[in-house]
Amino acid sequence: MSHSEISPSNAHRWMRCPGSVKLLRKVPPETESSEDASLGTRKHALMAQFAMLFQSALSICLHPTDVVAADFIKSNPLATDEMRDGIFGNQLVEYAEYLMHNPNDGKEPARVDIESFLDLSAVSPGMRGTADAIIYRHSDTTIEIVDYKSGSLPVTPHANEQLMLYMIGALQMTSDGLCSRKGGHLITIAQPSVETGPMSFRSVTVSIDTLRSFMFNAKTKAAAALNFKNPLRQPSNEACRWCRAKAICREYHGWVGADVLIDACDKQGNVKMSDQLAKRVLDNRKSITALIKSCQDYAVGKLNDGDNFPGYQLVEKSGRRSVIKSDAVTHELMFLLGPDALEPTGVGKLTRLAREHNVNLDFAITRGDPKMMLEPIEDVSEDFKTETGETK
Ligand code: SF4
Repeated sequence: MSHSEISPSNAHRWMRCPGSVKLLRKVPPETESSEDASLGTRKHALMAQFAMLFQSALSICLHPTDVVAADFIKSNPLATDEMRDGIFGNQLVEYAEYLMHNPNDGKEPARVDIESFLDLSAVSPGMRGTADAIIYRHSDTTIEIVDYKSGSLPVTPHANEQLMLYMIGALQMTSDGLCSRKGGHLITIAQPSVETGPMSFRSVTVSIDTLRSFMFNAKTKAAAALNFKNPLRQPSNEACRWCRAKAICREYHGWVGADVLIDACDKQGNVKMSDQLAKRVLDNRKSITALIKSCQDYAVGKLNDGDNFPGYQLVEKSGRRSVIKSDAVTHELMFLLGPDALEPTGVGKLTRLAREHNVNLDFAITRGDPKMMLEPIEDVSEDFKTETGETK
């Protein structure tokens, strides 16, 4: 078993759909992470690094300021130009200040552990996790787990399986463990209200009794996922959303009506679809789109692994074009295009403006590295488009 099969960060899935764990073993591993994921990883690392810097400065009675945060990201190789130019520096300070000062009374906590390793083998053998931060308050009666989320989709701390598991791990490092009658304890999501806005901190209190019954449930689901011959597969929005087994999951296909759709496609001109079935397909169009994406990823994974995938191959395609974001390019565009250059501009719009103004704007466009893309071996139909389109 790989350690990440059953982990806090995927508990939202295996606790709802224990059968996903075994099914995912049949899916080729991910070959590359998305741009969003890699940006999220960088932001996470920068938040942790700056919070540690802040913590060591406080230990020698220095209070880091926004200026220090600006210097920190200016010289940090993990930071992107957008982070350096935007308000990410403020978010770093807001996050670190939240950790180091009690938001209610402004006092420093007794202890703050940043990037804290947690052993959760009491829930499932080999389970591990890393909490972004654990705050031990002065009174020593309350523990707070803080999790930073960089994405723009709001994440709720309410009944958040990942953070409940971190809390269990943190409590087990205390002398009383889950036998403590102290608390309740806090779980907090730190997330910018919008990507470019200030950091918001949403907390819920969780009692020891709730944690104990949650732990029992988690243990039962983890054991079922690993030990049952055919553990239950139970589709739901929360479980399936990020599950990479959609392509081969019969329960998902039935749930989103994909079986109806495939049947209709097989019959081509002789489709006899009732209004109710057509409605079911339309109601599930997002999930069906997710299924198509999952099938593409599955086929790419197999071909990358050196396996055969019937009727498809990987073909090298030139990289996406995008507009270069730099002061020099913006300045030059302003000179050539006037105020039009100040509007958000993608490659398509820039090409149109180049034609209208009769100027060459190639200097403002860059092309990403070539990528291997999925393509049918024969019958390259018009409607099969890989994702090499221009950035809009
Ligand atoms: S797609 Fe949904 S139902 Fe199927 S294994 Fe994944 S989480 Fe479970």
